Amino acid sequence: MIAPLHDPGAGPRSRPGSVVHLDAVAANTRSFADRVPGHLMAVVKADGFGHGAVEVARTALLHGATWLGVTSLEEALGLRDAGLVAPVLSWLNPVDADFATAVRRNVDVAVSDRDHLLAVARAGRTAGRRARVHLHLDTGMARDGAAPGTWAALCAAARVQELAGTVQVVGVMGHLACASAGSDASGRAAFRVGVALARRAGLRPQLRHLAATAATLTDPESHYDLVRVGAGLVGIDPSGTTSLAPALTLTAPVIGIQRVPADTGVGYDHTFRTGRATTLALLGVGYADGLPRIASGRAEVWLAGARRRVVGRISMDQTVVDLGDDGVLLGAEATVFGPTAGAPAGSAPTVDEWAEWADTIPHEIVTGLGARLGRLHRGGAVSLGAIESASAAVVPAALRSVR
Ligand SMILES: *Cc1c(COP(=O)(O)O)cnc(C)c1O
Repeated sequence: MIAPLHDPGAGPRSRPGSVVHLDAVAANTRSFADRVPGHLMAVVKADGFGHGAVEVARTALLHGATWLGVTSLEEALGLRDAGLVAPVLSWLNPVDADFATAVRRNVDVAVSDRDHLLAVARAGRTAGRRARVHLHLDTGMARDGAAPGTWAALCAAARVQELAGTVQVVGVMGHLACASAGSDASGRAAFRVGVALARRAGLRPQLRHLAATAATLTDPESHYDLVRVGAGLVGIDPSGTTSLAPALTLTAPVIGIQRVPADTGVGYDHTFRTGRATTLALLGVGYADGLPRIASGRAEVWLAGARRRVVGRISMDQTVVDLGDDGVLLGAEATVFGPTAGAPAGSAPTVDEWAEWADTIPHEIVTGLGARLGRLHRGGAVSLGAIESASAAVVPAALRSVR
């Protein structure tokens, strides 16, 4: 579990960690909810993209999301354990997953082949109540989802189970391979065909869903009855078309300072040598905390009023930055990336810049943050107590605690 940092009001923090800005999650959620005619599912897999699944889920439900989505059943049960009663879909499980618990705790599951369907149907029969399933068609990824050649048979088998009273097909889903580069016409066409085949099999899915963040932002024809948005809620736009609010700041205090002469080798293998006498500051974060080692020598942080270059190799637990002739005090807080109080807009590095320095996408940076980092949540309505004490009128039923 990620340990809480000390009180946010207590000034610079003594250990590295992230601050999650729930007001940003709230604003992003509202902007997505305003764009779509149907439901907004908040996708909070991978611990809410490293931002905290429960906190992001609660915030999103208070600001326009009506569904939650995760990969594994375990993640879904974690949301239930936290008291969230909104509809939840879990879409990627092994065939021997505990579907009986899914049925009992009202978790919808995605099904992409006959064996999964039969396992889920057995769970429904055992529970004496229909298992709620979303049939998942592979719309062009050769990854999860039913292969197109198996789809009609899967739909027919699902209809048989509906008639037997073991499952209810509430949804049909696909996932677009190429939405971030614009519209994915062939994925969309495959989905249209899949929905038509499901109907021909006698199924009447209420929720057709295809779009994730990129398609939601760029391709209204993909919106259907529900969109599944994860990255966008935490401020990441894979399509590069929209200005969303970044929701995470990663900071680390200075834990060492050295004044070194010219031609000093820094870090493992001396991949950097100082060109002249300079001041180096040491931050106690490294690749074990999620700072990509490949960004060594390219990345920058914000520290003591300016951007500072990361010099030498990022090591497991430590990173060195070059201050030139500027001074800094032990304990001063560096921003690795994210919005920073006191820094002019646009001056601190962004998660997108770190992704560029590491030849990756921002998703990998935020989901790769290490477990030993602290994490604080600010803004939004974070505690269930706060939500429960708000007037019932503003609390969606989905958010009320089951306990
Ligand atoms: C991760 C995921 C999403 C959310 O994607 P974003 O681009 O982060 O919005 C939606 N659907 C499926 C099936 C996913 O795996």
